[in-house]
Amino acid sequence: MQAIIVLLAALLAMPPATALGNDRDRTAAERILEAALADHHAYHRLAWLTDRIGPRITGSANLEKAIEWATEEFRNDGQENVHTEPVAVPHWVRGKETARVVSPTVHPVVITALGGSISTPEGGITAEVVAVDNYDELKLLGEEVRGKIVLYTRPIVRNGGREAGYGSAATYRVTGATEAAKLGAVAAMNRSLGTAAYRLPHTGMMRYEDGIPKIPAASISAEDSELIQRLLAAGEKVTLHFELGCRNLPMAASANVVAEIRGREKPEQVVILACHFDSWDLGTGAIDDGAGCIMVMESLRIIRAAGLTPRRSLRGVLYTGEENGLWGGKAYALAHAAETGNIVAALESDAGAGAPLGFGVSAGAGAVELLTEWAAPLAVIGADAVRDGGGGADISPLKPYGVPQIGQRQDTTYYFDWHHSMADTLDKVDPDLLAKNVAAMAVLGFALAEAEETVPRLPEALE
Ligand SMILES: [Zn+2]
Repeated sequence: MQAIIVLLAALLAMPPATALGNDRDRTAAERILEAALADHHAYHRLAWLTDRIGPRITGSANLEKAIEWATEEFRNDGQENVHTEPVAVPHWVRGKETARVVSPTVHPVVITALGGSISTPEGGITAEVVAVDNYDELKLLGEEVRGKIVLYTRPIVRNGGREAGYGSAATYRVTGATEAAKLGAVAAMNRSLGTAAYRLPHTGMMRYEDGIPKIPAASISAEDSELIQRLLAAGEKVTLHFELGCRNLPMAASANVVAEIRGREKPEQVVILACHFDSWDLGTGAIDDGAGCIMVMESLRIIRAAGLTPRRSLRGVLYTGEENGLWGGKAYALAHAAETGNIVAALESDAGAGAPLGFGVSAGAGAVELLTEWAAPLAVIGADAVRDGGGGADISPLKPYGVPQIGQRQDTTYYFDWHHSMADTLDKVDPDLLAKNVAAMAVLGFALAEAEETVPRLPEALE
């Protein structure tokens, strides 16, 4: 009898068994992993965002609808301190876009305007094309550029890395119009920054420079770029006719969306989980960066639902206006400058929803070792590799304040097939891989907020 009473008392003292099993004997990472991988909740959320709301370019009603939706979802998940923080964003709208080679023979050209570009005059522009791989080649042409369309032909290579990947070719998309205009060009075009051969145009941000004439800027498909290059290489003069109807409107109101799990011991210390909520207008922004935002929303939901409250606060931030100039990220760093000493780390995902591989970190000495330890439970899904160097665009304005920068890494083999094109749609996302990505962000995010130690900070680099 005595033994039974003791046993009963022990049973009553135990926390109730839940769907997660006997939580007492399991680590937080195990509980998070099990919850994240249990269903396709993340995928259904992403489906709502992409199929029911759709593209989210800044200035669009869709983006603001998405912001309202996410705010509501965070509240329904029981998150704390749910609110929006206002950010002014550019309002650029796409219009008519047509192009064709008109001599030496006639060919249709697949074209899309770059975000921020001015329109062509009514009726379009007809001009000869000169092709270059880089700015050295452009400068060698000198006066030959005047009155012509400059075509930047640098290709990007699948998994090309720093030298042959997106970054090296994107320079010509962003500043190509300015450099061409300095030599008197009438327009700038670039070979689409994509790795798929399906004659897709890929849009993206471009920037004008004060004091330099503004000329229209567009991307054409890789196939059309190569056609023009072949004709030029054969010694032909190639003339192109094109028309763009895009417009720059006055700045519009938008917002970053914020939600928190308040820390149990040091709530003033914060770990940021980040993504960008805006997308280009051509697709529905499923991989760039709807997936990253769903990872943020789901990480907070799962951690809260598992009854886990970390030592420090976990703060989800869905940034606005990344695609056309990092408006949300810059505004956030400015508005929170006084708090940055308490932001112990920022973790961003903005590379799609391919298989999670692990993380890259830019922080003080010893960060890789710490993160390697905290990411170890993710070995079961292959997401435990930590390498030196990483971060994300939206969290980068926190870098000068010393905030450790962490980027979630995915398999990006196919990412640039679809990136910034009309093919960035939900069907590119595998529900199981998205769930694994949620697990990866949630496990590391929780560890960053829970561990006694924090990641060594970067040296401050404020001017
Ligand atoms: Zn992105």
